Amino acid sequence: MAHLRKSIALPSMTPGTGRRIAYHRFGKAGARPKAYLQAAIHANELPGAMALHHLMPMLVAAEKAGRIKGEVIVVPTINPIGQSQLVGSTHLVRYDFLGRENFNRNWLDLTGPVAERVGRKLGGNARDNVDMIRKAALAALAAMKPVTELQTLRVEAMKLSTDADTVLDLHCDSEAALHLFISRKDWPGPAQLLAADLGIEATLYNDPYPEALTFSGVNGALWARLAARFPDAAIPQACLSATVEYRSQHEVNHRLGESDAKNLFRFLVRRGVIAGRAGPLPRLKAQATPIAGMDVGYAPRTGMLTYHLAKGARVRKGQSVCEVIDPADPRGPKARTQVIARTDGILFSRKPDGRLTWPGAVLFRIAGAKPLPHRKGISGLDD
Ligand SMILES: [Zn+2]
Repeated sequence: MAHLRKSIALPSMTPGTGRRIAYHRFGKAGARPKAYLQAAIHANELPGAMALHHLMPMLVAAEKAGRIKGEVIVVPTINPIGQSQLVGSTHLVRYDFLGRENFNRNWLDLTGPVAERVGRKLGGNARDNVDMIRKAALAALAAMKPVTELQTLRVEAMKLSTDADTVLDLHCDSEAALHLFISRKDWPGPAQLLAADLGIEATLYNDPYPEALTFSGVNGALWARLAARFPDAAIPQACLSATVEYRSQHEVNHRLGESDAKNLFRFLVRRGVIAGRAGPLPRLKAQATPIAGMDVGYAPRTGMLTYHLAKGARVRKGQSVCEVIDPADPRGPKARTQVIARTDGILFSRKPDGRLTWPGAVLFRIAGAKPLPHRKGISGLDD
């Protein structure tokens, strides 16, 4: 069967305007395993779209060769609302202009509606439970009556993703090493294979799953939440859902796009979505570390930023990562406030040099192995 190009119309919010989500289906609808890949919820995060740009011709060729055993849904840019938010030559993409929400929050937790539909029927057969839960999740989405464009986008995207075995939500950071946000439920396990195949430099896990209603969060946590609610039923973690942070926003080029696509394709082979041999698993670059061990550096004051360490650097506790300089202070080095690492680990995310910063702004993130007292109780997928 040939690959299908489709699009979903979103309701018009103002006269004369209307947007659509374009997506592609490879393989047969309903075939297993199913993988769902999307990019650019935060609409200017395009390294993932570049990876998909290179992946799609590979999927077309695999389809022609009859190699797609399951189903692959690819949504190159999931957020046409964010794509349109141009203001004075600047693309403002993280928050919805209308409701001011972060586009990657307030996705739909279907635990309640699924429990209501099939909770009493869940028993000791995991396979039957997975079927029932997927059908109930799709039925719950079909019964929803979203009104706005953004609500409709969320419901429609989840109709494509909620029954998938693998969900990959492709993001990037402003300046970052390739990293993953996952659920503890998937590590060790499929997320470890993903990290190895993609060459991930830091993996952060939510324990047991992300509380925040991010896109990858809700798709994976549905299973963990249902398993917690129905402890006597056999409910496996039936969806590997991860947020892949494809490095820095400016790192959109064919060299990286091509190698990222090859790595994604190999992972899809390893997951059994595409027939063939995945070959030996690449060496894992880093063990997963807990979100509670992730040090976040905040700006203590306003000023201009400059960093002492490159993204991906190994950091020691007590080391200065960057400094905030008061441009009006004439005292040279005394005008510089150092921001110190509070853990040993990998500096996986920072801002570009030369940014203006302000009190409380996030300056960097370090993946550390040990839970930190100042991060206790934090279980939010931080993207
Ligand atoms: Zn993002």
